[in-house]
Amino acid sequence: MEAPCICLILFDLQPNHSNGAGTDPDALVASAQRLIPDALQDAAATDAVDSFPEQTIAAMHQAGLLTACVRSADGGQDVGLVPGTNATLLRILKYIGGGNLVAGRVLEGHMNAQLLIRQFGTETQQKRFAADAFAGNLFGVWNTQAQDGTVLTPKQKPDFVLNGSKTFATGSGYVSRPIITAALPDGGWQMAVVSLDETTVQTDTRWWQPMGMRSSRSYKITFCDAPLAGDQLLGTPGAYYRQPYFSGGAVRFAAVQLGAAETLLHQTIEYLCALNRTEDPYQRMRLGRMTVAVASGNQWLQGAAAALDQYMQVPTEEGSERLLAFANMMRTAIEQICVDVLGLCQQCVGARGLNQPYAFERIIRDLSTYLRQPAPDESLAAVGRYVLENERTDGTLWEPLKNL
Ligand SMILES: Cc1cc2nc3c(=O)[nH]c(=O)nc-3n(C[C@H](O)[C@H](O)[C@H](O)COP(=O)(O)OP(=O)(O)OC[C@H]3O[C@@H](n4cnc5c(N)ncnc54)[C@H](O)[C@@H]3O)c2cc1C
Repeated sequence: MEAPCICLILFDLQPNHSNGAGTDPDALVASAQRLIPDALQDAAATDAVDSFPEQTIAAMHQAGLLTACVRSADGGQDVGLVPGTNATLLRILKYIGGGNLVAGRVLEGHMNAQLLIRQFGTETQQKRFAADAFAGNLFGVWNTQAQDGTVLTPKQKPDFVLNGSKTFATGSGYVSRPIITAALPDGGWQMAVVSLDETTVQTDTRWWQPMGMRSSRSYKITFCDAPLAGDQLLGTPGAYYRQPYFSGGAVRFAAVQLGAAETLLHQTIEYLCALNRTEDPYQRMRLGRMTVAVASGNQWLQGAAAALDQYMQVPTEEGSERLLAFANMMRTAIEQICVDVLGLCQQCVGARGLNQPYAFERIIRDLSTYLRQPAPDESLAAVGRYVLENERTDGTLWEPLKNL
C-alpha cells in the first residue's frame, strides 16, 4: 500500500526577534533548567506516535534556545561555535533531556543542523537560515536510511531532483528545514537544506511503532522528484562525515540522555521520601550507586566540553584524534550510566512506581529507545584502537585536557 502524503503542519511559533547577542550563557542554561517541570508534564501529555511536544518547543523558542547556536553576527549566541561555549551547549541539552527526551532529541537535531550550517554554509546561507531560525522554523538532520535511500540527480531546471526515503525523520510534519543527505550519481554524499514548506513529501506514519520516544514522529519520509536549487546544497560531497565533528557530535545526544538519568534519580528520591522508605539500607545503597553514576556522567559532560573547547582553540590532527577518542568514551560511559540508572530506579520503585501517575515507566521507555544510537560497538572499538596506538606508560594520555 502506498504511503499517504501528509502536509507540513506549520508550527505556529511567534517569531523571536530578540537579538540575544551578549546574553549571559548561564542565563540560557538556567532557562533550560527552569523548563524541566513543564516539559515533564508536556511529555506525559504527548506520549503518542501522532503527537508532538509543541508546548515545550514553543517554550524553548521563547527562551532563545532555538537560536543559541546561530552566530552572534546574525543575532545568535555562538553557543557551540566558539571555544568556551561547549559546556553551555551540553548543559542546555542535558536539562531539556531531563524534562522531555523527545524535545531533547528535537533540539539536538536542530542544533546539529545549525552547527553544520555554520561549518559549511556560504555567507548567504548562514544569513538566510539564521533568519529562518528566528522566524521559528525547526531544523533537523535526516541522514539515516534503509535500502531505498535518497539520491540527488543533477538536472537543468531545477538544478537537482531528490528521490528516495529517509527513516527516523524526527519531527516529521514540524521540522520545516531538515538537512537531508543524499547520494550523487558518483556516490558522493551530499547535504542539502530542504524547505519542506515548498516541497511535497510522502510520509509513512505506520513505519514508526516504537517502544518509546513516540512523539518524536520519527517517521519514514519519501521524496518523489522533489526539485532542489543549487543554493540549497550545503558544503561539498563528503562534508557531512568530516571528523572530528561527525563522531564527536555524539557528546550532544549523550548529554540529552544524561538529563533523563538525572531526572530518574531525582524522581526516585522523591518517590522513596513520599513513601517513607528512606531508612532502608538497600534503598540507600541503590541511591548511592545512582548518585555516583549521575555524578560521573556530569564529569564526562564537563570533560567533553573541555575537549571540544580545546580542539576549537588548537585544531590539530592529533587533537582531532584525541577529541574523537574522548567523545567515544563519553558516549559509551553515559550509555552505561543510563542503563545502570534505569535498572536501579526500577528496583527502587518496584511495580507500584512503574504504574501511572508516576513518570518512571515513560521515561524508562523513552530513554531505552533513545539510548540506541549509531555504531555503539564501533565507537568503543575505536577507543581501544586509540589507546593501543597512543599508549603512554607515564599516565599522561589525557593530560592536555586537564589544563582547561
Ligand atoms: C528516537 C530516535 C530518533 C532518531 N532521529 C533521527 C534523525 O532525526 N535523523 C537521523 O538521521 N537518524 C535518527 N535516528 C537514527 C539514529 O541516529 C540511529 O541511526 C539509529 O538509532 C540506530 O538504530 P539501530 O540501533 O537500529 O542501529 P543498528 O545500526 O542496526 O545497530 C544495532 C546493533 O547492531 C550493530 N551493528 C551495526 N551494523 C552491524 C553490522 N553490519 N553487522 C553486525 N552488527 C551491526 C550495532 O553496533 C548495534 O549494536 C533516530 C533514532 C531514534 C531512536
